[in-house]
Amino acid sequence: MSRVYNFSAGPAVLPEEVLKEAADEMLDYKGSGMSVMEMSHRSKVYDDIIKEAEKDIRDLMNIPDNYKVLFLQGGASQQFAMIPMNLMKNKKAAYIITGQWAKKAYKEAQIYGDAVAVASSEDKTFSYIPDCSDLDIPEDADYVYICENNTIYGTKYKKLPNTKGHTLVADVSSCFLSEPVDVTKYGIIYGGVQKNIGPAGVVIVIIREDLITEDVLPGTPTMLKYKTHADADSLYNTPPAYGIYICGKVFKWLKKMGGLSVMKERNEEKAKILYDFLDQSKMFHGTVVKEDRSLMNVPFVTGDKDLDAKFVKEAADAGFVNLKGHRTVGGMRASIYNAMPKEGVEKLVEFMKKFEAENA
Ligand code: PMP
Repeated sequence: MSRVYNFSAGPAVLPEEVLKEAADEMLDYKGSGMSVMEMSHRSKVYDDIIKEAEKDIRDLMNIPDNYKVLFLQGGASQQFAMIPMNLMKNKKAAYIITGQWAKKAYKEAQIYGDAVAVASSEDKTFSYIPDCSDLDIPEDADYVYICENNTIYGTKYKKLPNTKGHTLVADVSSCFLSEPVDVTKYGIIYGGVQKNIGPAGVVIVIIREDLITEDVLPGTPTMLKYKTHADADSLYNTPPAYGIYICGKVFKWLKKMGGLSVMKERNEEKAKILYDFLDQSKMFHGTVVKEDRSLMNVPFVTGDKDLDAKFVKEAADAGFVNLKGHRTVGGMRASIYNAMPKEGVEKLVEFMKKFEAENA
């Protein structure tokens, strides 16, 4: 068996321990005589799996009792519609546009009401997070929406926006469980799990209870109401059962590692190795302003498209895969999520040094 260093932005690297455990349990989960893939989501054994997963993410994020944790489907993109459908009582919301995912959410919200762009960093190709300390947020906005970590551009909010009392909704797909968060600052925290937590097919929504109501936009399908899923503890219909089981294993792994403060330290240490190298390199350059750099997604370029392509190819041949930047921006991007070992980043930097020396 040979495993590569996988720098994919998502689906992405998972802890090897988790994959091995899942492999061991594949044919017979804890004496049930079947795989988790084969069992009824209404069975006692599965109920224990989903309940324990919920308990563990609550412990990890210190989620208060007045928040529900929902395990849903449809990816993060489905939330782009679900959020306005459920929250736009006044048919108005403020969006901060820091990249393509925020923009997609903003465009989707325009279908349902008046989505107002209150700030944007598009003028400089989303290479920074705008100043959000004193935004012009409409009084009657139902919520303020952010994409907290911008997977494509590699920026992250280091300070949450001043919402002026409005509910904050955050897409944390690419920074989920990468560091501690104060859940009470948000109305909704959500993300697809396929970057930092588990296999594609699960989206986790952490939502304050007062935002879960029957008072949704007319025509909202039953499956797209938070209330439907909250009332049924994520078992209204068949959930993405196997994916939730893997998420649960990753939660256990994170707890064993020491929780989110330890993950933050590890992630800072890993990112520093790469950013320090980029800051002194004569060939490779980071594309984001220093203050807003993501710990998870690190985009960089050589400034020469052919050289970028050569680097991506030679890196892949050497076992460092999925380093090509997003198709819309080019260059390179190293995604270094929780499960990427420090050694993977160190070896990547070694490889970059060698490439730089050989191609100077
Ligand atoms: N938000 C962010 C920050 C993302 O990185 C992505 C996917 N890469 C999405 C939303 C969309 O996720 P999905 O494919 O699960 O709909």
